[in-house]
Amino acid sequence: MSEKIEVVVKNIQHGEGPHWDDTTQCLYYVDYFVNDVHRYNAVTGDDSRLNLGDSSVSIIIPRQKGGFVVSQKTDLAFLDSWDSGKVTSIAKVEADANMINDGKVDASGRLWFGSCVCGKDIHEPEDWPKHQGSLYSLDADGSVKKHISNISISNGMDWTDDNSVMYYIDSIPRQVWAFDFDITAGTISNQRTVADFSSTEIQDMGYADGMAIDTEGKLWMTCFNAGKVVRIDPETGTVMRTVKFPCEKITSCCFGGADFTDLYVTSSQYLMTPAQVEKTPLAGSIFKVTGLGVRGRKANTFSG
Ligand code: CA
Repeated sequence: MSEKIEVVVKNIQHGEGPHWDDTTQCLYYVDYFVNDVHRYNAVTGDDSRLNLGDSSVSIIIPRQKGGFVVSQKTDLAFLDSWDSGKVTSIAKVEADANMINDGKVDASGRLWFGSCVCGKDIHEPEDWPKHQGSLYSLDADGSVKKHISNISISNGMDWTDDNSVMYYIDSIPRQVWAFDFDITAGTISNQRTVADFSSTEIQDMGYADGMAIDTEGKLWMTCFNAGKVVRIDPETGTVMRTVKFPCEKITSCCFGGADFTDLYVTSSQYLMTPAQVEKTPLAGSIFKVTGLGVRGRKANTFSG
């Protein structure tokens, strides 16, 4: 099985937060530090951009009631519609020095998201202040719950098909954890490591960043600063497959396409020098990987 990597959008500063909308065959994603949300239409090939002001946006996920839930640095907010561009804060979640990072909706329609120190001027992950972030969830009624403190860079997450396990990444200790997941209560417990990017079993993979689970229960993870996406078996913690990209700062991924067999991958050129960008001109592209021979599943939308 050989895969093919295509560039679908170029010159994003810091692409992140991909969400595939199967009803419109569009990929929503963010350009984090310039506070743009994007909508890439896979049918027409058009990419449209909407600026949400001067905060950092890491999440754009459709609401079942219409519009979108988005993040605005320390706040969660609703984007009324793509056409209006009107943003209304619904909760200030974090301290001013922090920012909300990756988020995803579970099968019950609850939004999970985490945080970290605002890294707008931090060049390398190893310079990031540690243990200042948390993992939260937002219920349909607007209530926010904190689940874990002392997170360094809260990042990708996903759930098994039977909703018994939640996987979650903290990028700085380079850990991928599993938790027992109670979808009704919206709680997690029994934390354990399923993949350790600082161990000898997983070498030269940089920092685990975004995550998407496939229908076989294997984890696809983007390797920031390593230019790769890996497929990892959470039962053994070992790398099953590696896909190499033409730039280093690979940030996140999600499955999409008519049958969920394409993997969309975001990347960054944020804080790269002009010389570095010249060396890797595709940094900051949105990629589509086809021919992987696996499939993902429909993304959930926020029930509130
Ligand atoms: Ca991320």
